[in-house]
Amino acid sequence: MSKLYFSYAAMNAGKSTVLLQASYNYQERGMHTLLFTSSLYAKTEEGRITSRIGINADALLYGESDDLYAWINREHRRKKINCVFVDEAQFLTKDQVWQLARVADRLDLPVLCYGLRTDFRGQLFTGAAELLAIADNLREIRTICHCGRKATMVVRQTADGKTLTTGDQVGIEKSMYVSLCRMHWEEETNRWPVSSTKAAKPAPARATRKKPAAKKKAPVRATPQRRARR
Ligand SMILES: [Zn+2]
Repeated sequence: MSKLYFSYAAMNAGKSTVLLQASYNYQERGMHTLLFTSSLYAKTEEGRITSRIGINADALLYGESDDLYAWINREHRRKKINCVFVDEAQFLTKDQVWQLARVADRLDLPVLCYGLRTDFRGQLFTGAAELLAIADNLREIRTICHCGRKATMVVRQTADGKTLTTGDQVGIEKSMYVSLCRMHWEEETNRWPVSSTKAAKPAPARATRKKPAAKKKAPVRATPQRRARR
């Protein structure tokens, strides 16, 4: 029995790189892989999965109305597939996640999905939520915040670096996103410090001590003091 995998991460963690490497490993052994990516960011009719480190591969573009089980089944009959890869899996619909589960269960093909867990508002993407619920295997691909902590959240920014807290779940450009740890995400989205009208409790000592370090964009790795707090 094959499995449905979900590898999730914040932005710029190298999800596409990991996907392309895994697909290459199959191909190197003479096996055939089928690659999908979302049509949402596609600039042309032809799909392509690109990674920031320069490797890329052709991919089929899926839209929300596509039946992925039927599509993969058709391709599999035409030419035997050994593994299915899905990039931008956060954009899958609930139904499509189930279609991919059936590919694993009934066509006995491993399905490896890669995507973001949450959007810039800290809310689960539909595809991510369903994958977290039913995938056989969950894997986190790690990336780091400017402070050196693990980055689990993303913020969306305007061209001049201003953080947006409202808007559509899907941005126009991938490059508008920055990955942060939860603590810095809360500050960047103005959820911290909690305003006095919401909470009368004094801020913990840690928050005041942290102030100088809160200057974002400083490309510093963890100093010993910061590392100690992790
Ligand atoms: Zn941080």
